[in-house]
Amino acid sequence: MTKAVSRQRLWQIKQAKAGNCRFCGRKAVGHALCAKHVVVVRQNCRRHSGCKPRYLGSVCIDDTEAYRAEQKKVVSEYLSGRSSNKLAEEYGTSAARILNIVHHLGYRLRRGRKKA
Ligand SMILES: [Zn+2]
Repeated sequence: MTKAVSRQRLWQIKQAKAGNCRFCGRKAVGHALCAKHVVVVRQNCRRHSGCKPRYLGSVCIDDTEAYRAEQKKVVSEYLSGRSSNKLAEEYGTSAARILNIVHHLGYRLRRGRKKA
């Protein structure tokens, strides 16, 4: 008697039931996939449908809860008057990325340079 389902498929079903990623077995965020594989599947979907890939470093690449919480923290600090250069230094990224995050979450950017 042969099995109807392969060993690999049985493992995938087991992981999905346990709330893990069905590709790698890490903890899932969202549709039975981990943060890494959510991005992989999304990129494959974009490629298949003929859309451009997201730009590297784009805010949408990483959609995990922890990342979103950090984005909100960055935005609230920016809105309280801190300069984007100082925030970039603190978070180990570029000022453009900080401004990108603030803009992406729908807030207005300050115009001009901050006086020291
Ligand atoms: Zn995974």
